Amino acid sequence: MFPQDDKSAVRVAIVGGGISGMSTALCAIEDGVLNASQTTIIAEKVYSEITSYIAAGLFRPDEDVAPDLDTAERWYRDTFERWSDLEKLNIPHITGVKKLPGYSLSSFSAEATSNRVCDRIFPDIRSMTADELKKFPRQYKYGVYHTTFVADPQKYLPYLEDQLRQRGVRFLQYRVDDLADLAERFDIVVNCSGLGAKHLAKDNRVVPIRGQVVKVRNKPEVTHFYYADDYYILPGVDWVTLGGTRNFANSDLRVSKCDRENILRGCQQILPLLKANEEIADMVGLRPYRSPVRVEAVKFPNSDSWLVHNYGHGGQGVNLSWGTAREATRLIRACLKNPLKSRL
Ligand SMILES: Cc1cc2nc3c(=O)[nH]c(=O)nc-3n(C[C@H](O)[C@H](O)[C@H](O)COP(=O)(O)OP(=O)(O)OC[C@H]3O[C@@H](n4cnc5c(N)ncnc54)[C@H](O)[C@@H]3O)c2cc1C
Repeated sequence: MFPQDDKSAVRVAIVGGGISGMSTALCAIEDGVLNASQTTIIAEKVYSEITSYIAAGLFRPDEDVAPDLDTAERWYRDTFERWSDLEKLNIPHITGVKKLPGYSLSSFSAEATSNRVCDRIFPDIRSMTADELKKFPRQYKYGVYHTTFVADPQKYLPYLEDQLRQRGVRFLQYRVDDLADLAERFDIVVNCSGLGAKHLAKDNRVVPIRGQVVKVRNKPEVTHFYYADDYYILPGVDWVTLGGTRNFANSDLRVSKCDRENILRGCQQILPLLKANEEIADMVGLRPYRSPVRVEAVKFPNSDSWLVHNYGHGGQGVNLSWGTAREATRLIRACLKNPLKSRL
């Protein structure tokens, strides 16, 4: 049995090299809960091939992600504060994190433009005036304005990886077929496998939500984000993400020409200057949806090792990344207080 405070002897595997896996590793190491040199990240695919890389990374909370509203708020607030600190470094070309003002617009309902978590977190959130609404080529009935953060995954993921490698975390690339196999070699296994959890955790509540986007080159003229009915325009660091689709229980990764044309037409109606932006790529990803997101610790059957789940973030995995990493870190700390088996 390990002494409770000897974390250097505790071996930890994190399955998943997306935003959830890397955030959990970094959070637990920064909080002093894990020792970097005893932490291994195992991922079948590198981040440039996974959902986390496709996301726009605009911080815009939903309500229905956690078991209750207060937990949702805590998870989002943890991420918001983390990005507030990173934004102050003023190196978005490295961290991917920058401040962004913008508009959420709806032709149908006020609820589509904001929610209770947004109202609690954004200090400057306010309804748009009739004059502001009239400035858009299409007429929207409702709108809110606020400032938020974007954590552009195409910068933020390499930044996270760099932070982990500098501290000595090991990365392995292979597919895990059964988490129980890892319990033989690791005291704690953290499951951040996104959609992979459907198989690894035998969890049928995990459902893919297909999302297609068009990435265009960013230009200084695109100064705000726009969410307007079915379309969004989200400027990151080098690219602007134009979207998008939400096809529930659809795992088709092919680019649809029809979706693409619809996205371009809808976004150019909101912001005509986009017609001049050079198109770069069509991308399709699968949001790993589960309601609620699962952050939970369980004991492996017939083993002294622990399994900590952190998956099912749907369309909110970037926004929830630091908050759920912090929750998973709390669980890892609690597991460490329990007796672990000796590997001597
Ligand atoms: C078009 C689109 C736009 C989006 N926009 C936003 C946004 O603006 N804001 C936001 O917050 N979210 C957004 N999202 C959602 C966000 O991308 C996801 O919630 C997030 O990426 C989930 O991250 P993850 O690390 O949990 O999973 P993933 O990024 O899917 O990573 C899972 C990891 O687990 C590994 N893995 C899986 N199974 C196994 C196995 N058996 N063995 C080994 N490794 C395995 C994979 O290889 C991968 O490394 C968007 C998604 C899409 C598709």
